[in-house]
Amino acid sequence: MTKPSNVTVPSIDAVVSCLSDYDPNALHVDRAREAMRACLIPLTQTERVPLRAALGRVLAEQIVPTINVPSHANSAMDGYAVRAADLNAQQPVSLTEVGGAFAGRAFDGTLGQGECVRIMTGAVMPQGSDTVVIQEMTRQEHGRIVIPAAQRAGQNVRLAGEDLRIGVPVLQPGRRLQAADIGLIASLGIGEVQVIRRLRVAFFSTGDELASIGTPLQPGEVYDSNRYTLQAMLETLGVEWIDLGVVRDDPTALEAAFLQAAQQADAIVTSGGVSVGEADFTKATMAKLGEVLFWKIAMRPGRPMAFGRIQTAEHQAALFGLPGNPVAVMVTFYQFVRQALLYLSGCKDAVEPGTTQAISTQAIRKVAGRTEYQRGIAQWHDARLEVRLTGQQGSGVLRSMSEANCFIVLEHTRGDVTAGELVTIQLFDGLMS
Ligand code: AMP
Ligand code: MG
Repeated sequence: MTKPSNVTVPSIDAVVSCLSDYDPNALHVDRAREAMRACLIPLTQTERVPLRAALGRVLAEQIVPTINVPSHANSAMDGYAVRAADLNAQQPVSLTEVGGAFAGRAFDGTLGQGECVRIMTGAVMPQGSDTVVIQEMTRQEHGRIVIPAAQRAGQNVRLAGEDLRIGVPVLQPGRRLQAADIGLIASLGIGEVQVIRRLRVAFFSTGDELASIGTPLQPGEVYDSNRYTLQAMLETLGVEWIDLGVVRDDPTALEAAFLQAAQQADAIVTSGGVSVGEADFTKATMAKLGEVLFWKIAMRPGRPMAFGRIQTAEHQAALFGLPGNPVAVMVTFYQFVRQALLYLSGCKDAVEPGTTQAISTQAIRKVAGRTEYQRGIAQWHDARLEVRLTGQQGSGVLRSMSEANCFIVLEHTRGDVTAGELVTIQLFDGLMS
C-alpha cells in the first residue's frame, strides 16, 4: 500500500491499543480481524478496463443507467397482445388478429377495439395494447382468437425500465464485480469500467528444511508446498502475485527478501518462522524493518501470526506473517488474509466468510477458550445438512484440506460437541473464490 501523502497514518500500536479486549498473547479471532481492518489503508489508484476483463475487479465508479432496461415495454410470454378494456371478467371474448410482433421486429400499427396481435417473448408491445394472454390459454374459432374470462390487466408485460431505470444508480464504487454485474453493465451498453488497480502481493517461504520442486530431497527436507498453496489462493482472489521463493533461516537473506517484497508489493505474505521455538531473528528482522505485532491468536490451527507493515523509502507494504504448517497457512489465509486483501483492494462488500449450520454426525473434542477450524465434509442426507470430520486433523496434514469441503467452526466459548449437535460451517464453495 502506498501511503497517501495527505493522510497521517497512526502507528499500529496506537490503533490496536484503542481496541477493547486487545491481548496479543491470547487474541480472540474477532479482535485480530478488527485490529487488521483498523490498520489497513485501501488502494485508491484506478484504471480503465474492458468489461470483459472486469470480473472480480473492484469498481471505482458509480454505474448510473443512461437508458432504461428494457428500453420498451415488451412481452414476457408468447401469446396475444390485447387491450384489457376489450376483455370480460365473466366470459370469453373473441378478437380479430391483425398482425404479428416478434423480438426485434415490432408490429407497426395501433391496436383498435376488438383487435389482437400475435406476439412473441421480447417483442415490443404494440401501440394500444397493454396485456398479453399466453398462447396456451387461447383458441382459434372461425378465424378469430378466443380469450378466456378472468385475465388480469397488464399481465405478462415487462415494463420499460423495470430492470434498470435511467438515472437510478445500480452499482456503487467498492463493488467486487460478479458475473451478474458484468451482464448488468453490458445491458446498459457500457463496454469499459473504471476499477481499482489490482493489489500486488509478494510472498515467500522461510525455512532451512525447505526444498524447491526440481531439486532432490535431502534427508530432513520437505518440498515447499506453501508457496504453491498461496499462489493458488491469491490467483483465485484475482490479485497480482510475486513469488520470491524460499528464504533460508538467515537474518541477512530474510532482510533482503522483506525489503525486496516491500518495494514491489502492497502486501507481503510469508510462511514459517513465527512459531515459538523458531529462531528469534525472523521476528527481530520483521520488527527492525517496520511496525510488526506478534500475536498468539486463540485459535487452532494458526496460533502464531505476525501482522504489520514493512517500510521502504517510498513505499510501505502490509505484512502477514503466517505460521509454517501447511494447514495453518490455509486457515489463517481464509480467516484473516483473504478479507484483509479484499479490503486493501478497495472492496466494500461484506467479505467475511459466509457461514451456515450443519448437524455433526460425530462427537468432536474441543477445548473452550479458542476458536477451532476443523476440516469437514458436509453432505445433504434426508433433507438435512450433515457434517463429519475428514479424519486426521493435524496442522501438517494438508490432505485434510484437500478432502474437506468446509471448515467446521467451533466457536471460542464452545466445549466438546456431541453427535447430533448443530455446528457452524463455512463451505469452501464461495469462500475459496
Ligand atoms: P515453522 O512455522 O517455520 O516452525 O514451520 C512449522 C512446520 O511447517 C514445520 O514442520 C515446517 O517444516 C513446515 N513448513 C514450514 N514451511 C513450509 C512450507 N513452505 N511448505 C511445507 N511445509 C512447511
Ligand atoms: Mg521454520
